[in-house]
Amino acid sequence: MQYNTSELTEEQRIFQDMMTDFADEVLAPMVDEAEETGNTPLELFTKMAEMGFLCPRYPEDLGGGGADKLTECIMIEQVCRVDAGFCGAIVAHSGLGTMPIFLHGSDEQKEKYLIPAIQGKKIAAFGLTEPNVGSDAASIQTRAVRDGDEYVINGTKMFITNATICDYVIVAAYTQPDKRGLGINLFLVDKGTPGFTVSKKLDKVGNHAAETGELVFEDCRVPAENLIGGKECGGFQQLESTLISGRITYGARCLGTAQSAYDLTVEYAKQRVQFGKPIIKFQNTSFKLAEMATYIDVMRTYVWRVARLYEAGANVKKESSMVKLFCAELLQNITNAGMQIHGGYGYMMEYPIQRHWRDGRLYTVTEGTSEVQRIVISKECGF
Ligand SMILES: Cc1cc2nc3c(=O)[nH]c(=O)nc-3n(C[C@H](O)[C@H](O)[C@H](O)COP(=O)(O)OP(=O)(O)OC[C@H]3O[C@@H](n4cnc5c(N)ncnc54)[C@H](O)[C@@H]3O)c2cc1C
Repeated sequence: MQYNTSELTEEQRIFQDMMTDFADEVLAPMVDEAEETGNTPLELFTKMAEMGFLCPRYPEDLGGGGADKLTECIMIEQVCRVDAGFCGAIVAHSGLGTMPIFLHGSDEQKEKYLIPAIQGKKIAAFGLTEPNVGSDAASIQTRAVRDGDEYVINGTKMFITNATICDYVIVAAYTQPDKRGLGINLFLVDKGTPGFTVSKKLDKVGNHAAETGELVFEDCRVPAENLIGGKECGGFQQLESTLISGRITYGARCLGTAQSAYDLTVEYAKQRVQFGKPIIKFQNTSFKLAEMATYIDVMRTYVWRVARLYEAGANVKKESSMVKLFCAELLQNITNAGMQIHGGYGYMMEYPIQRHWRDGRLYTVTEGTSEVQRIVISKECGF
């Protein structure tokens, strides 16, 4: 299946073809077991890396694909079309878990963490959220106190994607708590560092193939050179560019789930016969499907537009939040409609539409809830 190919460059078209085939032939066979066991298959990372699909945007001299933002969106959409959990694990790695190092890390940090992560040899996680702090990120309670050549980290991080499988985690902690927001820094913490434990693997409604956990830091000592950016304060600012990029990517994630829900629903509606004809022949059904197709086209158009603006260097703080808000909210209509058209069978676990409905429910919550996006957009609009 090809999507809006006429809007792509030759290179992007070739990538879309390769990525679509890879998702269907290599990733799809791994989905059932991962969804059933709730374990992320580690070969997801290595197989993606072998093809250059894991972190396509990083420069080639670091082992990346040197691709543009739109190409990354194509990658994300195709992974998510096959499985949202896989996509969650991948974006936690290729976005939040690596981008701060790429943008602000030292050469040594790039050598030790970023390059192996791009190669799929190290798995990354990113820890900002805490049991008592989510949207109000400036109120995090994790602290990092300088002691000689080390920082001592104390705190708990909640809902962390890849927590249970990561080789390192980027942890947000206050070095100077009196400076609200500004006093936050990002630290690299290796798996196995004394005082760093994965205290819980969390049971989720959906996205089962991405592992989520709680991380605890108790007098966890890391070398001072593990501070990203090299000097205290400014971790929040370091995050901003990562978040803007991530919100565009998030639109592509919504798109993958939406496309799959639509494809499944069309197939079902063609086969399901009631009152002597396939239900797709009822205008109510075809109108719903027509709406779904429209929403998906508008979503893809908007994600790609903002990806191009971002690539051109425009300030897309407002637009990236619009992408995330619009796509995540619209997706709820699409997966709901898909469930309705599937009737009772849709509610049965053996029909995959329910997985997209469950998985997509997450999207109005993570990487900034829809309400947080509305706050950002309001501010950017000057309200
Ligand atoms: C599966 C999963 C994976 C995740 N992965 C990661 C990860 O890898 N790393 C990480 O750091 N975090 C991760 N998170 C955390 C996620 O980013 C947070 O759940 C999210 O930011 C919301 O925070 P919260 O859950 O504490 O909700 P809260 O902030 O408590 O919000 C609860 C509700 O109140 C609303 N609300 C809050 N403040 C306002 C306001 N000012 N105005 C209006 N409404 C408001 C919210 O929009 C929401 O509807 C993950 C979460 C999940 C569920």
